[in-house]
Amino acid sequence: MTATDKDRRKKHRKPSTDASGQLSGSGCSAKDYNYVFHITDDDIECLAQYRDMLASGSATFAEIFYNYLFDNPDIADVLYAYERNGGEVSELIRNELTFMLDLFNAGGLKGRELQLVEMGRQHLERGIKPVWVAGGYRLFLDFLRELVGKSGLQRPDRARLGSALLKLAIRDLGLMTEGYWGTLLETAGKEVAHIAGQYARAEQLLAGLPQLFWSVDIRKNELLYASYPLQKLFCDAMEVPYPFLHQVHREDQPLLLTTWQHAVNGHDASAEARMSLAGAPEHWYRLSLYPSLNQRGRTTEIHCMLEDIDKIISERKQLEQLSTTDSLTKLPNRTLWMDHLNLALAASRRIPGSQVAVISLDINQFKMYNDTLGREVGDALLRDIAERLRSVVRESDSLARLGGDQFGILLQPDNDARAASERVITQVLDCFDIPFNCADKQLCVNLTLGVSCFPDHGTNEESLLVNAETAMYRAKRNGLPYQFYNPVSDVSPAEQLRYSGQIQGALDNNEFELYYQPQVDLRTSRITGAEALLRWQHPTEGIVLPQRIIPVAEQLGMISPITDWVLITALQQCKQWSCNGQTIPVAVNVSARSFQNPGLAGKIEEALQAAGVSGEYLEIEITEATLMMDLERAWKVLERLGEFGVTIAIDDFGTGYSSLSYLKKLPVHTLKIDQSFIMDVAFDNQDIAIVRSIIDLGHNLGYKIVAEGVEHSMAWKMLNNLGCDAAQGFHISQPLPEDSFSEWLSRPVLL
Ligand code: C2E
Ligand code: MG
Ligand code: MG
Repeated sequence: MTATDKDRRKKHRKPSTDASGQLSGSGCSAKDYNYVFHITDDDIECLAQYRDMLASGSATFAEIFYNYLFDNPDIADVLYAYERNGGEVSELIRNELTFMLDLFNAGGLKGRELQLVEMGRQHLERGIKPVWVAGGYRLFLDFLRELVGKSGLQRPDRARLGSALLKLAIRDLGLMTEGYWGTLLETAGKEVAHIAGQYARAEQLLAGLPQLFWSVDIRKNELLYASYPLQKLFCDAMEVPYPFLHQVHREDQPLLLTTWQHAVNGHDASAEARMSLAGAPEHWYRLSLYPSLNQRGRTTEIHCMLEDIDKIISERKQLEQLSTTDSLTKLPNRTLWMDHLNLALAASRRIPGSQVAVISLDINQFKMYNDTLGREVGDALLRDIAERLRSVVRESDSLARLGGDQFGILLQPDNDARAASERVITQVLDCFDIPFNCADKQLCVNLTLGVSCFPDHGTNEESLLVNAETAMYRAKRNGLPYQFYNPVSDVSPAEQLRYSGQIQGALDNNEFELYYQPQVDLRTSRITGAEALLRWQHPTEGIVLPQRIIPVAEQLGMISPITDWVLITALQQCKQWSCNGQTIPVAVNVSARSFQNPGLAGKIEEALQAAGVSGEYLEIEITEATLMMDLERAWKVLERLGEFGVTIAIDDFGTGYSSLSYLKKLPVHTLKIDQSFIMDVAFDNQDIAIVRSIIDLGHNLGYKIVAEGVEHSMAWKMLNNLGCDAAQGFHISQPLPEDSFSEWLSRPVLL
């Protein structure tokens, strides 16, 4: 090291970085500046030497400084704002100026250093930028340079003074910047501490939550954050972006991938999937994804949350089950069954030619048992019934309790739904042959069923169920175990409502009319009688057939006046024919409900008397079911009618369940074989066998046998061969209005 070096080192000894370091942001004090700027005792002495000259010469700088401040709009704005906030601008400027002019005094003063740092802090608070301060010092230095230039000092002194001023001015700026910086660092430090506190609290909170959180930078495929419990789960490497994909149930993996893609496309997304995390048993989890987008709307990060929802799922399942299961029988309820029906219809629509059968099933005696034995027994009975039904209905066919004592069976698409439902119905009916053992009692239960088939009987769930119920009610009315829906004979509930208000009016306005259809002796072709068939000349719908009128009238309790009207009209007509020289017995249909009316026999007697017709010219047609409803009462009514000479015909014979052994005890005269056996009697061996046995047995028991629905000559011939007595049907004549019938009577019968 040279002597000059040593001198230099002595002169500019490196200051220690103690005490004042804490005032300034960088830890640099006036000493540091003195050292770096080579501010020597000589500089301080030089300033002291020319202080008075400089101080007196600087008086005019005030104006330059003011102009500088207010000529710069940004500085002026800050000053006005300072004023608006209650500050005194002139005082502020005066202080600044005084401080600046004090430069010549402050060479080594500790006080100035502290003030400068404090000024930096205040400037920062007031929005005064360091560059503006530097600008002010530049002007001041310019001013001083000029002042020194004009002072008449010799060149070396001028240079000495200029250098000292420059060093001190720059040191001022440096120290003031330390104030700016220190304050900023202090604020930033507080912010950092605050944020760190917040972060620690958030981290603590997230660690305590059952959910797992993580964030992913999707462009770099980098994990940005993973909550503590998640880190614990994956102490080793965590897969990115989705840490669990290999633990997700295979079937749910595609769903998670689409959900992820949805989030990548910028949408919030969530999915539920089964996972077995870290070897734990499989649970249901919900993954929620929240993307962060950049200014161009592209997803940059995805924030993810995973929560265990196993409990929620099982509660949801329980709720679903509760809302879709009948709590008493544990069978599906109406809601679920309708859903099944909906699915079956959708499946059937995809299979050309397939049909779906809907069976409505009602327990006939349930109300009676429930009312007499109590609710508890009623409930037990329903449970047992459900159990028995379950044992015969295949699992693929849906069985449900639709409400009260009504059950439903839905058969899956089949090419022949009718045959399929007949098979099921037979099994169901058979399984009810054995009585139920409830409350130590043997309870006999029987059912009535109604069937509708998609697509023939309805195209949606509601109409199919309504139509199956309609068929079931018809079966009940007719005392039959089951019936298929028949669009011709089954009146829809809407139609029922419509007709209900119109039937009384139809009677009052004479809208009802009787058509007559002849019955002809098969051997002689001579007329043996005429059946009176009801027609309604509806004002807007044209002719309405009896099968649409009678069920509604029965339900509305309006059948009696109709039966009365039919009886009177038919007997008057019979009288008319006899007055015209033709004695033709007339047959009148009496429905089940009318037949049960205790006044029926009396009314018939009155009508016969009123028309002046002898009883043997009237035949009453009733169905087997009507008879079987209450055999004892039927017997009494028929006996009474027999006293007037009225004959009795069993209509639609063969469709019901009466046995001939019962019938033979009753005063019945005629069996009318149902047209379903007659239609194909010329071709169908089975029909031939049935018809033959009815004729033979009927004859043995002394009945007259009439075949209904004879539509062609081949049936006529076959019936003749089989020994049937009389025939009725379109081959002979359609039912005709009274005037056409009279005309028909006048023509020879050609068969
Ligand atoms: P029903 O007593 O068995 O009457 C025979 C039905 O078969 C009549 O239908 C008749 O038009 C129809 N028919 C007759 N010949 C043929 C044939 O060759 N082929 C076919 N396909 N059909 C034939 P309608 O008049 O529609 O009466 C239907 C049912 O309504 C009757 O069946 C009867 O049970 C009931 N009904 C008719 N009038 C009355 C009435 O005044 N009171 C009551 N309670 N029921 C009535
Ligand atoms: Mg009839
Ligand atoms: Mg009939």
